[in-house]
Amino acid sequence: MELLKKLTEAVAPSGAEEAVGAVIEEAIRPYVDEVYTDALGNLIAHKKGTGKKIMLAAHMDEIGVMATYIDDNGFVRFSPIGWLPPHYALYKKVYFTNGVVGVVGYEEKEKELKDIKNSDLYIDIGVSSKEEAESQIAPGISGGIERSFSVCGSRVFSGVMDNRSGCYCLIKTAERYTGDCDVYYVFTVQEEVGLRGAGAAAFAIQPDMALSVDVTDVGDTPNCPHNAVRLGEGPAIKVMDASIITHPIMRRKLLLAAEGLPYQLEVIQNGGTDAGAMHTSKGGVMTGAISIPCRYIHSAAECVDTEDLKHTEELLYRFLMAE
Ligand SMILES: [Zn+2]
Repeated sequence: MELLKKLTEAVAPSGAEEAVGAVIEEAIRPYVDEVYTDALGNLIAHKKGTGKKIMLAAHMDEIGVMATYIDDNGFVRFSPIGWLPPHYALYKKVYFTNGVVGVVGYEEKEKELKDIKNSDLYIDIGVSSKEEAESQIAPGISGGIERSFSVCGSRVFSGVMDNRSGCYCLIKTAERYTGDCDVYYVFTVQEEVGLRGAGAAAFAIQPDMALSVDVTDVGDTPNCPHNAVRLGEGPAIKVMDASIITHPIMRRKLLLAAEGLPYQLEVIQNGGTDAGAMHTSKGGVMTGAISIPCRYIHSAAECVDTEDLKHTEELLYRFLMAE
């Protein structure tokens, strides 16, 4: 749990993933042969082996904000990084990567709360003039949203369970796996803005097969849209989302590995993960995906169940052991 907490504390909006990369590198280094960063910033931890070449990917970036300009009174206007609905951002703290902290407010006289757009929002960084603000923030500086870490029974809340949960499961798998496969644990960049890191990494690595680990929405809260995936009922083996129909052989392998474990099947019409970019890389890569059930995705209190994390780790380990 300490490692998971530490992973969630690093602020790493897409395009500025260095802080979480450093935490991951320190944690995984003892269990692999080499750790390096590619041209896009993907962090790659390689455990050499003589068997099949397998790429496991989890994105390490998070949604966030980027300062666009500072108004005459020192309020910072911003562009969202990734899918950040205005009502998710409102009144949340923002942690800029340079250490400046602010809170999101909106132009109250302009609109009813239900009508607000991101362009109505601003970040109050606690200054009273444009000059003072400019001494702390410039256009292009990005930040992450509030992420305080709380444990409630078997459930864990934090603003960045998407996808520090996946990063955590990869690190725990590396800690345990000592088999023959040539394994690349890849912590990708810029997933939240369009799966940008994973495809390039897969192209360079050219794995025999690839798996992504990310969170997915659930359908078990009051009056939510229909969705067969439930929190706490095991990792979801992805069948389809908007970015991929997973390879049937990969699904079969995962189903075999999941025997005796709780698991679910995931079929969703929206959203995508790194699997979407990996499977169309170069000449094509046989790709599957494991999704960690998560409530309140992209809010400041994303919630996962620690039993699901445990079973995701176990599923990854069994999958590798079977190759
Ligand atoms: Zn994600």
